[in-house]
Amino acid sequence: MKSQFDVAIVGGGPAGSTLAALLALRGIRAIVFDDDKRPSLLVGESLLPTVVMLMRRLGIEDRVKAFSVHKPGVAFIHRTGSRLDFFFPEKALGKLPNYAYNVPRPEYDNLLRDRAIELGAVFVKRRVGLESGTPGSGREIQLDAETLAAIPELGGHHPKLLVDSTGRARTFAKVLGVGATRGKRNDVAYFAHFENFESDSARDGQVVISLLRKGWSWRIPLQGRLSVGVVVDKDVAKTHGTTPEERLESIISSEPLLKDAGESRRRVTEVMTYTNYQLISDRGHGPGWVAAGDAFGFVDPMLSPGLFMAMHSADLLDQFVFAEGAAVLDQPKRMARRFDRVFDELRDWHQSWAKIIEYFYDGRMYSLYEGGQKLRETYSKVAIASVWERHLSKQITGMVSGARTRSRYAQKLLKFTSDHMVWGVAPPEEYAILTGVDEPVGV
Ligand SMILES: Cc1cc2nc3c(=O)[nH]c(=O)nc-3n(C[C@H](O)[C@H](O)[C@H](O)COP(=O)(O)OP(=O)(O)OC[C@H]3O[C@@H](n4cnc5c(N)ncnc54)[C@H](O)[C@@H]3O)c2cc1C
Repeated sequence: MKSQFDVAIVGGGPAGSTLAALLALRGIRAIVFDDDKRPSLLVGESLLPTVVMLMRRLGIEDRVKAFSVHKPGVAFIHRTGSRLDFFFPEKALGKLPNYAYNVPRPEYDNLLRDRAIELGAVFVKRRVGLESGTPGSGREIQLDAETLAAIPELGGHHPKLLVDSTGRARTFAKVLGVGATRGKRNDVAYFAHFENFESDSARDGQVVISLLRKGWSWRIPLQGRLSVGVVVDKDVAKTHGTTPEERLESIISSEPLLKDAGESRRRVTEVMTYTNYQLISDRGHGPGWVAAGDAFGFVDPMLSPGLFMAMHSADLLDQFVFAEGAAVLDQPKRMARRFDRVFDELRDWHQSWAKIIEYFYDGRMYSLYEGGQKLRETYSKVAIASVWERHLSKQITGMVSGARTRSRYAQKLLKFTSDHMVWGVAPPEEYAILTGVDEPVGV
């Protein structure tokens, strides 16, 4: 029997399920293997407007809306009291909606999977065995003989393309020894869902990021509960007890920005721990395989780009490679050239997110804000100052929401303004996120 499937996707999270759905829409036959080992609580609950575009394309926005919270923007509250409120623009920017959603992840992932199945993809609950490709097969990595034999739908035939969408497990990269560049931070994140915890949102659904005395935290409003996470240096975490529960509770109780908000809190889930979340693989494809989502790279979560990057990587593969149909799968050189384009785009996304996120970590965003306040007080009657401020703020909102993240103009404007136009306020270092145990708390 001939294999019914051209593509086998390993990992059915947002990247894998999105790709399976998009391939099904193209009439390309895909089978997804997922180990179904996802915990009941998952990070990745705050989405960007760019994700809504993809939901619409998959025809699932109304179904997402039913279990999610409308997200109008994000606030950054600094330990000094500075508060930066970013709201997605009043009017939709072109096709981009002016809102996003906060989603409970298991429901969201299940919906993506269900949609892919509705469109014709096949899901199999299984952890597949992988091995280096047989010489002469044109494959760098392949399903092992036991897996091929165990899945009757494959009919003993190897699919033309394998996709690694196993998330941070980076399964293919590990089998193949593909290296990666890691981020410089040594952080750990603890998170759980709470009831009776104030979100401090300026508008319902606004996500609140707080810059703590040590590290930072997120508060994401979900239906009937608040997702609260803290991200601190691993050595700082050790000073807050031994278990994840002790550490999360102790950090909340000792941080002024969280203590009062969480005074009457009741934790309604277990506490999850995440480490190691900044990485870009040295390569994202090879003969017979390609990576999507976190399996290729993952970005620091402060601005919530993860799910967008995961789903957009599937979208890029669809647009740049599979738009011409299944025929491309029989032209390995052509397919490799197309994959190169996809990963050029993705690398640029990763670098652009890293650049803008760094402004929040190293304090430049807050010193820019404080400088802007001073400028407004001093030159309140000078029209050019307020035009500049409005324009800059629009560009920054565009960058943090995913609409202008890669815009060279916005990147240069932000750099120029923060390098040359901030006076009379404490230097950025004093607003920076503090990580180390011994580091004194700045301003
Ligand atoms: C602390 C933290 C906070 C975050 N907050 C946000 C946020 O607010 N917003 C946001 O958008 N993103 C956030 N993210 C990032 C987001 O969670 C990820 O980017 C996203 O889940 C990546 O999707 P994915 O499909 O690539 O991988 P995953 O979601 O990890 O899915 C991988 C899938 O593969 C399966 N799998 C793994 N190995 C195998 C195997 N061998 N065989 C079969 N199946 C396998 C897994 O069970 C899983 O279903 C955050 C990340 C961290 C660490």
